[in-house]
Amino acid sequence: MFPPGANLPVHVPPRKGAGAAAIGANMDAITRAACRVVALRWRAKETAMPRFIVNKNAQANGDHEVHNTTDGCGHMPDTRNRKDLGVHPGCHGALVEAKRLYPQSNGCAYCCPACHTG
Ligand SMILES: [Zn+2]
Repeated sequence: MFPPGANLPVHVPPRKGAGAAAIGANMDAITRAACRVVALRWRAKETAMPRFIVNKNAQANGDHEVHNTTDGCGHMPDTRNRKDLGVHPGCHGALVEAKRLYPQSNGCAYCCPACHTG
Protein backbone atom coordinates (compact mmCIF):
# COMPACT_ATOMS: atom_id res chain seq x y z
CA MET A 1 0.00 0.00 0.00
CA PHE A 2 1.14 3.60 -0.66
CA PRO A 3 1.19 6.03 2.24
CA PRO A 4 -1.09 9.10 1.82
CA GLY A 5 0.54 11.81 -0.32
CA ALA A 6 2.95 9.44 -1.98
CA ASN A 7 3.43 9.80 -5.68
CA LEU A 8 1.34 7.15 -7.25
CA PRO A 9 2.90 5.49 -10.25
CA VAL A 10 1.87 7.38 -13.36
CA HIS A 11 0.42 5.19 -16.03
CA VAL A 12 2.41 5.65 -19.20
CA PRO A 13 0.54 4.34 -22.24
CA PRO A 14 2.62 1.86 -24.16
CA ARG A 15 3.90 2.82 -27.60
CA LYS A 16 1.45 0.34 -29.04
CA GLY A 17 -1.38 2.64 -27.83
CA ALA A 18 0.12 5.68 -29.59
CA GLY A 19 0.36 3.64 -32.77
CA ALA A 20 -3.29 2.67 -32.52
CA ALA A 21 -4.23 6.36 -32.11
CA ALA A 22 -2.26 7.22 -35.24
CA ILE A 23 -4.06 4.48 -37.17
CA GLY A 24 -7.35 5.85 -35.80
CA ALA A 25 -6.54 9.33 -37.13
CA ASN A 26 -5.56 7.76 -40.44
CA MET A 27 -8.84 5.87 -40.63
CA ASP A 28 -10.67 9.13 -39.97
CA ALA A 29 -8.86 10.73 -42.94
CA ILE A 30 -9.64 7.69 -45.09
CA THR A 31 -13.33 7.85 -44.09
CA ARG A 32 -13.47 11.53 -44.96
CA ALA A 33 -11.79 10.89 -48.32
CA ALA A 34 -14.29 8.10 -49.03
CA CYS A 35 -17.16 10.46 -48.20
CA ARG A 36 -15.76 13.01 -50.65
CA VAL A 37 -15.59 10.35 -53.38
CA VAL A 38 -19.23 9.38 -52.72
CA ALA A 39 -20.26 13.06 -52.78
CA LEU A 40 -18.44 13.60 -56.08
CA ARG A 41 -19.99 10.48 -57.62
CA TRP A 42 -23.41 11.67 -56.44
CA ARG A 43 -22.85 15.09 -57.98
CA ALA A 44 -21.73 13.49 -61.26
CA LYS A 45 -24.88 11.34 -61.25
CA GLU A 46 -26.98 14.42 -60.60
CA THR A 47 -25.47 16.34 -63.51
CA ALA A 48 -25.99 13.29 -65.73
CA MET A 49 -29.75 13.56 -65.17
CA PRO A 50 -31.74 15.88 -67.43
CA ARG A 51 -33.11 19.18 -66.17
CA PHE A 52 -36.73 20.12 -66.69
CA ILE A 53 -38.71 23.36 -66.70
CA VAL A 54 -42.38 24.17 -66.79
CA ASN A 55 -43.94 26.99 -68.76
CA LYS A 56 -45.29 29.65 -66.36
CA ASN A 57 -47.85 30.53 -69.00
CA ALA A 58 -50.63 28.08 -69.76
CA GLN A 59 -51.39 26.91 -73.29
CA ALA A 60 -54.77 27.72 -74.88
CA ASN A 61 -56.19 24.53 -73.30
CA GLY A 62 -54.90 25.49 -69.82
CA ASP A 63 -51.94 23.08 -69.80
CA HIS A 64 -48.57 24.16 -68.41
CA GLU A 65 -46.07 22.33 -70.58
CA VAL A 66 -43.04 20.55 -69.12
CA HIS A 67 -39.86 20.59 -71.25
CA ASN A 68 -36.51 18.84 -71.06
CA THR A 69 -33.86 21.60 -71.17
CA THR A 70 -30.91 19.19 -71.20
CA ASP A 71 -31.98 17.54 -74.46
CA GLY A 72 -33.22 20.88 -75.74
CA CYS A 73 -36.56 21.54 -77.34
CA GLY A 74 -37.69 23.88 -80.07
CA HIS A 75 -41.00 24.50 -78.31
CA MET A 76 -39.69 25.91 -75.04
CA PRO A 77 -41.02 29.24 -73.77
CA ASP A 78 -38.89 32.37 -73.33
CA THR A 79 -36.34 32.14 -70.51
CA ARG A 80 -38.42 34.48 -68.32
CA ASN A 81 -41.44 32.17 -68.63
CA ARG A 82 -39.54 29.06 -67.54
CA LYS A 83 -39.90 27.72 -64.00
CA ASP A 84 -37.04 25.41 -63.09
CA LEU A 85 -38.14 21.94 -61.93
CA GLY A 86 -34.64 20.68 -61.15
CA VAL A 87 -33.11 17.43 -62.36
CA HIS A 88 -35.11 14.22 -62.67
CA PRO A 89 -34.27 10.78 -64.05
CA GLY A 90 -37.26 11.13 -66.37
CA CYS A 91 -40.16 13.38 -67.30
CA HIS A 92 -42.58 11.63 -64.91
CA GLY A 93 -40.78 12.97 -61.82
CA ALA A 94 -40.61 16.42 -63.40
CA LEU A 95 -44.35 16.30 -64.14
CA VAL A 96 -45.13 15.46 -60.48
CA GLU A 97 -43.05 18.50 -59.48
CA ALA A 98 -44.77 20.69 -62.10
CA LYS A 99 -48.23 19.63 -60.87
CA ARG A 100 -47.37 20.92 -57.39
CA LEU A 101 -47.06 24.37 -58.99
CA TYR A 102 -49.66 23.98 -61.70
CA PRO A 103 -52.15 21.13 -61.21
CA GLN A 104 -52.88 21.20 -64.94
CA SER A 105 -49.40 20.37 -66.21
CA ASN A 106 -48.61 18.20 -69.20
CA GLY A 107 -45.46 16.87 -70.82
CA CYS A 108 -44.41 18.55 -74.06
CA ALA A 109 -45.47 16.40 -77.03
CA TYR A 110 -42.04 16.91 -78.66
CA CYS A 111 -39.45 16.48 -75.88
CA CYS A 112 -41.55 14.61 -73.24
CA PRO A 113 -43.88 12.40 -75.35
CA ALA A 114 -43.91 9.74 -72.60
CA CYS A 115 -45.56 12.31 -70.29
CA HIS A 116 -47.80 13.93 -72.87
CA THR A 117 -51.53 13.31 -72.74
CA GLY A 118 -54.29 14.69 -74.91
ZN1 LIG B 1 -40.58 20.42 -75.29
